[in-house]
Amino acid sequence: MKHDPHNSPAPRGKGGRHRARRAFDNGTLRQLILQMIGEQPRHGYEIMAELETRSAGAYRPSPGVLYPNLSALESEGLILCEPVDGRRKLCRITDLGRRHLALAETVPAPGADRRGGHRWKGRVPAEIAEAMDALKAALRRGFLDTGAGPSQIGTAAAAIRAAAATIEGLEISPAPATDPAAAKETGMTQIITRHRHELRRRELSVRSAENLTPNMRRIVLEGPELEGFCSLGFDDHIKLFFETGGAKPEMRDYTPRAFGDGTLVLDFAMHEAGPATDWARAAAPGSRLRIGGPKGSSVIAPVFDWHLLVGDETALPAIGRRVEELPGDTEVLTLAAVSGAAEEQQWQGAAAHVAHWIHRADPADPALVLEALRALQLPAGRGFVWIAAEAGVARALKRHMLEERGHPGEWLKASGYWTAGQSDAAEKSLD
Ligand SMILES: Cc1cc2nc3c(=O)[nH]c(=O)nc-3n(C[C@H](O)[C@H](O)[C@H](O)COP(=O)(O)OP(=O)(O)OC[C@H]3O[C@@H](n4cnc5c(N)ncnc54)[C@H](O)[C@@H]3O)c2cc1C
Repeated sequence: MKHDPHNSPAPRGKGGRHRARRAFDNGTLRQLILQMIGEQPRHGYEIMAELETRSAGAYRPSPGVLYPNLSALESEGLILCEPVDGRRKLCRITDLGRRHLALAETVPAPGADRRGGHRWKGRVPAEIAEAMDALKAALRRGFLDTGAGPSQIGTAAAAIRAAAATIEGLEISPAPATDPAAAKETGMTQIITRHRHELRRRELSVRSAENLTPNMRRIVLEGPELEGFCSLGFDDHIKLFFETGGAKPEMRDYTPRAFGDGTLVLDFAMHEAGPATDWARAAAPGSRLRIGGPKGSSVIAPVFDWHLLVGDETALPAIGRRVEELPGDTEVLTLAAVSGAAEEQQWQGAAAHVAHWIHRADPADPALVLEALRALQLPAGRGFVWIAAEAGVARALKRHMLEERGHPGEWLKASGYWTAGQSDAAEKSLD
C-alpha cells in the first residue's frame, strides 16, 4: 500500500509533532498499530486520531510516518488494507497478524505513562526510566546547546560510555552509606559510585610543558595510545612510571587535570626532588611518559547543595577540575593552602564558587589551614567535603570536620596525597 495523502487529514505543523515522532521508535509504533487494527478494522486517519486520543494529545503520527508502517505490516501479511468506500482503504488484521499479536508483548499507548511511550520504558524500573530522562534532558538543555568545550565533551562522552559498560556487566561496587539513618533521612542511598575501567598502560609524548605558576608545571601529553582514555571522577588518579635504574620503575599517582581532543593534561606541584618532580622539571616537547589507569573512578552523587574542597598544591588539579565540572545549581567553596600569592590559580565553572587561599611556609604543618577551616562559614543544606593534602594535615582537617563540626562521615572523603619525609607514601583513605 502506498502513502495516500488524500486518505488522511492534513499533516499538522512541526514543533511538538517532531518531538513526539522522535519519542517513539518504529518497531513499537508498528506493533501498536497492529494491536489497534486487531481490536477493529480501521482507516489510516482513524489510527492517527486514535493514537492522539490514547496518548492524551501527546502523540499523533504524521501520514509520512503512519502509511509506511501500514505498508510494512501489509507486506508482512499481518494486515490487509482494501478500499471499501471509493478511495479510502480499511485495514483489517489477518490470521497471521492475530497469531503474531498472541505471541507478542502488548505495547502501552504512547504517553500512557507520563514519561513517554518508549518500548523499554514499559520494562525497566521507573528509577531507570527517570535516570534516562534526566540524561537526555541534561544533554539537550544543559549541555549540547551551551557550546561545551572539548574537555567537557570528553568527560560527558566518557561518562556515558562507562555507564553503558557498567550496565553491560562490568563490575560496579557502590560504596555503602556508612550511616543508614542519615542516608535515609536525606533520601540518599548511594553517595559514591565506583566504576571500574579496563586497566591500560599507555606511552605518551609531551606536546607542551610550561609553568602555570612558579611551582606548578603543566604538562600536556598526546599520542595515539590515548584513544579510549576515560576518567569520570575529578579525583581519579593515574600511575606514572619512571625508570630510575632500579629493578622496577618508580610509580607515582597524578590526577588527570583534563583530557579530550587527543590530549591529557597533568599538573605537577614542584617540590625539592623525587622521580616525578625531576621528570616534570626536565620535560619538554617530545619527552616520553608511560602511564597506567585510571583503574577506576569514584563519582559523587549529584545530590549535594554545596561542596567544600580543601587541599594543598597536590590537590589543586582535582580541585580545579571539580570547580570547572560542577553544575550551575551548586555552591562550591575551596580552601587551598599554597606557599604564596603567586601560586594561586583561577578556575571558571558554572557553579557559584567562593575561593579561600592560605599562604603557609610548611606544607606539613596543619595549623594555618586548620584555623582557616574553623573560621569558615558553611552554607545551609547538604554538603560534601573533600580533603587532600599531606597525610598529617589531611587527617587533622578530617578530624575537625567530623569531631568538631559533626559533619556526617559518609559526606566526606579525605586522602593523604603524600607524607612528609617519605617517598611515594600516599594514604588514599585516611582513618
Ligand atoms: C590520588 C593522588 C593524586 C595526586 N595527584 C597529584 C597531582 O595531580 N599533582 C601533584 O603534583 N601531585 C599529586 N599527587 C601527589 C604526588 O603523587 C606526590 O606528591 C608524590 O609523592 C610526588 O612524587 P615525587 O617523585 O615528586 O616525590 P617522592 O619521591 O614521592 O618524594 C620525595 C620527597 O619529597 C616529599 N614530597 C612529596 N611530595 C611533596 C610535595 N608535594 N611537597 C613537598 N614535599 C613533597 C616526600 O615526602 C619525600 O620526602 C597525588 C597523590 C595522590 C595519592
